Amino acid sequence: MTNKKKVVVFTTGGTIAMKFDSEVNGLTPAVSGDDLTSAVPGLSELARIDVREFCNIASPGMTPQKMFDLSRKVEAALREEDVAGAVITHGTDTLEETAYMLDILHREEKPVVLTAAMRGAGDTSADGPANIYCAVKTAASPEALNKGVLVLLNETIHAAGQVRKTHSGNTATFASPWWGPVGYCDVDRVVFRRAPLDRRTFAPSELTARVDIISAQTGIGREYIDFAVSMGCSGIVIEGFGRGNLPSGMIGGIADAAAKGVAVVIVTRTPGGRPYQVYAYPGSVTDSMSYGAVRGGEFSAAKTRLKLMVMLSENPDLARDKTALQSLLDI
Ligand code: ASP
Repeated sequence: MTNKKKVVVFTTGGTIAMKFDSEVNGLTPAVSGDDLTSAVPGLSELARIDVREFCNIASPGMTPQKMFDLSRKVEAALREEDVAGAVITHGTDTLEETAYMLDILHREEKPVVLTAAMRGAGDTSADGPANIYCAVKTAASPEALNKGVLVLLNETIHAAGQVRKTHSGNTATFASPWWGPVGYCDVDRVVFRRAPLDRRTFAPSELTARVDIISAQTGIGREYIDFAVSMGCSGIVIEGFGRGNLPSGMIGGIADAAAKGVAVVIVTRTPGGRPYQVYAYPGSVTDSMSYGAVRGGEFSAAKTRLKLMVMLSENPDLARDKTALQSLLDI
């Protein structure tokens, strides 16, 4: 009998599990979950590894429903008594979304750590093995308890709410703009320097709400808002400029959407800061709020969309309760 901790590794695909295929001249899914972990020297010294393949896809193919299903499996695994934590291997493109969806559904105190790679499994200096090694070390570490869902690449640990992919090709791509990482994985132990505050979790029984994102563009009118309403969205996240300001031509669409009971949430395209009613000109946040929009918080449009989907799936009546909606979103 060994007293080593057990870490469940869920594999979902991504570059970490891809190899160059000369026939199609590019990276394609190639590596099984077991092959992925057996290519990591020293992994079995850290923990007992239990690999569970969830899927093997490039992460642009990830969907909110798949994220939700993955969360169910991860939370169930964490409830197994002998499991200390979970690692998820994922593509980098949408990793921050899956991490955030898992975070707002994560109720267990045990750690969940997402990792990935920027270089394919067959590339020179592939970064996957070292990332998996550090992710397992983090998931098995008592310091990672009660920190929500974490993202680890390049020996650096980020909170799911703040992390973003910031470079299309560099291995140091993940960063938490305006916040910084929560810790790092060192040779002897995992070091934490801060913990995410104000984590809120939700428990919808299924994912039912459709929420779309519309980016403000200079010169744009209300047409995309009308389209989103016609597609049956129960929520729309509008990514505004700066403090959340919009071209004034969008306001009529917001007013009509809100009057129909659609939750309209304003966020900012800047990587830091909150939208806020600083201005009072047509198209400002003051203006859009007077027509029924609510302010989001510091989260990106992609993360706010997932949160709104989860919130409206749990409680569809929230769409008309602006006070409750805003207090849940503006954190
Ligand atoms: N396109 C890949 C994906 O997200 C990128 C990666 O994994 O780094 O699946």
